[in-house]
This record gives sequence, structure tokens and C-alpha cells, in this order.
Amino acid sequence: MSLARPADAQTGAIALSDVRMAAERIRGVADGTPLVPSALSDKLGCALWLKLETCQPTGAFKLRGAMNALRQLGDVPGVICCSTGNHGRAVAYAARMIGLRAVVCLGRLVPQVKIDGIRALGAEVVIHGESQDAAQQECLRLAKAQGLVEVSPFDDAAVIAGQGTIALEMLAAQPSLDTLLVPLSGGGLAAGIATAAKAIKPGIRIIGLTMERGAAMQAAMRAGRPVEVQEVESLADSLGGGIGMSNHFSFPICRALLDDVVLLSEEEIYRAMQALYFEDRMVAEGASVVGVAALLSGKVAARGHVGTVITGRNVDMAQFTRVVTGQDICLGDMRIAGVPYGA
Ligand SMILES: *Cc1c(COP(=O)(O)O)cnc(C)c1O
Repeated sequence: MSLARPADAQTGAIALSDVRMAAERIRGVADGTPLVPSALSDKLGCALWLKLETCQPTGAFKLRGAMNALRQLGDVPGVICCSTGNHGRAVAYAARMIGLRAVVCLGRLVPQVKIDGIRALGAEVVIHGESQDAAQQECLRLAKAQGLVEVSPFDDAAVIAGQGTIALEMLAAQPSLDTLLVPLSGGGLAAGIATAAKAIKPGIRIIGLTMERGAAMQAAMRAGRPVEVQEVESLADSLGGGIGMSNHFSFPICRALLDDVVLLSEEEIYRAMQALYFEDRMVAEGASVVGVAALLSGKVAARGHVGTVITGRNVDMAQFTRVVTGQDICLGDMRIAGVPYGA
């Protein structure tokens, strides 16, 4: 899909200076992850760089946004959020550091490993409803009832600015990067990265990547407004859920700044998880490998200096083991036929 946008797209909501201030607030806690060359570069025929957000203390990039948001709250009774898992863990981690009460609402599709990670940090966990949208409703209800401050996983200016610090670090380490491949769900990550990267290097291409099943941001971009999408199981569980029907920040920014959105099948995500494991020896979530999947499948042409964010490592190890050993995977009503790597 090619997205028409004005040449000098401006959203006004978040500026490079906000991202730079976020970088100060998260320093020493959620910054400084490595940017490494991928062993897949030769095979692909481009210089591929991997930004390893898997090295965050919570195992995913969301600590950047959560830390930036919570550091600015001041004296509040506590925070609450809805999450597919990684944002909840980030909020729990940041809240514990700052000394705040944290409540995390999750839908039933969230893997147990993520629930355990959140509980271990001392946050209260509420499991509610079949979908992220249902969990979000419960989150809003509890926020009101208990006077807690809601921190959205993606539609929050401070969260978006925090995620944007990834782009500052990538371009400081490798100014030659000319394409960034960014996993896309609610769009906080892509909005932050696009805001910072395009301010620093206007010609850079930013491509959002997500799974075919439940691509909420792409559906919204096509419709010109947020739309309901059905949430189904995916190897990229961290990319599940909608963008919120009254989205204020991440949708307008993604619409203005993303050059393209590309969708990946479950089979393509499966093969990319294998490739990253066998070639780069990395354990990464399905949501993290969509950039690699886009290059391997040829859906994004491999040329120039490409960076992608390996967004998280919080995999269900039983499922991950099945993927890397080439076994079948069942996802609700869908079955991915197993293929050993390289076969
Ligand atoms: C949240 C998340 C994403 C997507 O980020 P959005 O800001 O919702 O677009 C991608 N990968 C992982 C591992 C995540 O936890």
C-alpha cells in the first residue's frame, strides 16, 4: 500500500525536542541498547542493522515510553494501563522504580509468560475480556472508579516521545541508515520513530510492518479514521488489538509520516523467527521480526542501509521452540505447517 501524504507533513503534536527531552528522562534506565549488523545482510544484499530492544531490562522497548510518561506524573494515587503484555511490564517496572501503585489490564490472548513478568514486578493484574478492546474498557472503568492515571500503550504524547528515542540512538550510531522498518500495532513506536527520524533526516523512508490478521492501523489509514478490527491469535501477539476509536496522537502521526505499511503472513513471520535465530542467534518475538520477514519475503526491496527494531524477546518458550525446530503451530482456528529452517 502506498500512502499519499504532503511533502512537508506536519502533525504538530510531538516535536524532535520532546524526543530529546525524553532521552534525558530515560537515561541510564531504558536507553543505550546495541545496534548491530545482521548476519543476514549478505544473503539479503543490503546492510541490515538490528536495534536490540531485546536488551531492555523488561525485554522490550516499551520501557522507554512508560518511563518517560511516569517520570512526568508527579504526585498521583497510581497508574493503570491496558496492554498486550510488554507495556504492562514496562509500566510495572517504571512504577516500582518511582514508587507508584500500578494496575495492568490484559485480555485473555496475552501469553502466560507476559502475565508472570508483570506480577513479578509487583503490579496488580486484571484479566478481562476476549479482546484488547474489552480489556481497554475495563481499564477506563477502573481508572475512573479508583482515581488512577491511565497510561496508553501507544496513544499518549509522552509514550510516543519515549519510543522516538530509539531513532535518536539508531541515527547517532549509523547516520547512513536510509530505511527504517518498524513493527506497527497501535503505532506509538512508529509515530515516535518517524517524528524523530524525519526531523533529523527528512529523506529517510519509514515503513510500518504488521501481520495480515488484524492490521488495525492499516485499516484505519485506508478508511481515514479508526475502524474496528477483529482480533485473532498471531505469532506476533504483541501486535494485536485496535488503535482506539478516539485516537488522538498515534494515528494522525502515522498517517502523516509513514511512507508505507506492509503486511506479513503468519508463515512469513514464522520463517523470519527461524532466520533470526539461526543466522543471528537471537530469541525474538514474532512481533519483532516483521522487518526481517518483509526483507526475506521480498515485500520490501532490500537495498541501501536498512535498520529494523527487534522490539522484544518475551516469547512463550514452548511455542518458540516449536518454531525454531520446524514444527506445526496452532493459532486458534489457524494452523501453520512446520518447515525446518533452510529446508
Ligand atoms: C507494543 C509492541 C510493538 C508495537 O508497538 P506499537 O507502538 O503498539 O505500534 C511491537 N513489538 C513489540 C514487542 C511490542 O511489545
